[in-house]
Amino acid sequence: MAILVMKFGGTSVADLNCIRNAAQKVKREVDAGWQVAVIVSAMSGETNKLVGYVREVSALYDAREYDAVVASGEQVTSGLMALTLQSLGVNARSWQGWQMPLKTDAAHGSARIQEIDTTAMLAKFDEGFDVAVCAGFQGVSPDNRIATLGRGGSDTSAVAIAAALEADRCDIYTDVDGVYTTDPRVEPEARKIDRIAFEEMLELASQGAKVLQTRSVELAMRYKVPLQVRSSFSDAPGTIVCDEEEIVESNVVTGVAFSRDEAKITLQNVADRPGVAAAIFGPLAEANVNVDMIVQNISDDGRTDMTFTVHSDDFDRAQATMEAAKDEVGFEGLVADRDVAKVSVVGIGMRSHTGVAQRMFAALSEEGVNIQVITTSEIKVSVLVQRKYMELAVRCLHTAFDLSDSGQASA
Ligand code: ADP
Ligand code: ASP
Ligand code: MG
Repeated sequence: MAILVMKFGGTSVADLNCIRNAAQKVKREVDAGWQVAVIVSAMSGETNKLVGYVREVSALYDAREYDAVVASGEQVTSGLMALTLQSLGVNARSWQGWQMPLKTDAAHGSARIQEIDTTAMLAKFDEGFDVAVCAGFQGVSPDNRIATLGRGGSDTSAVAIAAALEADRCDIYTDVDGVYTTDPRVEPEARKIDRIAFEEMLELASQGAKVLQTRSVELAMRYKVPLQVRSSFSDAPGTIVCDEEEIVESNVVTGVAFSRDEAKITLQNVADRPGVAAAIFGPLAEANVNVDMIVQNISDDGRTDMTFTVHSDDFDRAQATMEAAKDEVGFEGLVADRDVAKVSVVGIGMRSHTGVAQRMFAALSEEGVNIQVITTSEIKVSVLVQRKYMELAVRCLHTAFDLSDSGQASA
């Protein structure tokens, strides 16, 4: 029988009414003849609350215990969803990560999925269960402890389970009716995109568009999972994430993404010699700190400043790691700026069009927004700005690249 994956995010299971609404959508698909794997997030706000508890108890927390705490939100919603489905006459059973099992690596807090054993779940479908309700965001690590997949990780659970079950479709139900040219909460003129290429979605997600977790897009691309983002609260068609070749109209810039939770660290007066970068970024990698933008200034007297950015969640860990490596690296001072944000423009059209960066910088300068750091890739340009200018930067770039009109401008 054909299998469908339906993932419901936090706002889609925010209370019992929302869970009932989501369960009705699932029942409709069951009645249409599908076997359904439902992936649920925690109720909205719940994971933040749990993370807050952990941080209050210990700033440099033990990631294994962090996972034990924060994975609990999904356990609650998976049980409630199974119960709600049962009350609608649907034969449903909940599954925690360890029960499947969904095996991860040991990187607690942002673990990667290594393997999903679907034998038990498929056997349950064969026994007559129509729905497997899976707790998103969680799995089990090699040392048999609960592991979580990083914030927004239920998207990744959904895509990975869809791939493992060879599902016909993976629908991500959320509180917007698709992927927009930018977050519609920041730019009300943002436009829904009907189809977006995996590469663009990957870049938008990794630059902060939290509508999909980056790893979910990576997995969908690798395993060719048919992926759609759509609304839990309407039946409007969503956004299909697909191969580039399936997109007829291609734009120079497809979207603007932003990340307000950045922090900038500058190590002052670092020796400009081989091995220094490795001495800085090696320990950060070992501490599971994800470093994003990196700038090294020119040195005049054999010493230089090294600036890099990290997600603000990783800031305490990054700072502690650098203080511990101070003698090894040999820097003089550490200056932190937690008041920064990153804004990026993304589009596969940049491969064949020049001038995007220039147009971006001109638009920002017209609004008086100062650029602190710049990075580029084949299909994106990112800038670091003072956080208070982030919204302004997003809106002015959205206008500069004519993203609210369906007829797109070229560079
Ligand atoms: P869920 O709880 O369903 O996983 P998220 O809050 O993680 O939902 O993601 C949905 C949110 O992503 C939207 O409410 C929207 O504010 C935000 N978002 C950011 N960028 C975009 C974008 N380009 N298109 C659509 N939504 C976006
Ligand atoms: N509940 C987790 C979070 O808030 C996972 C998810 O919603 O995808 O990050
Ligand atoms: Mg999400």
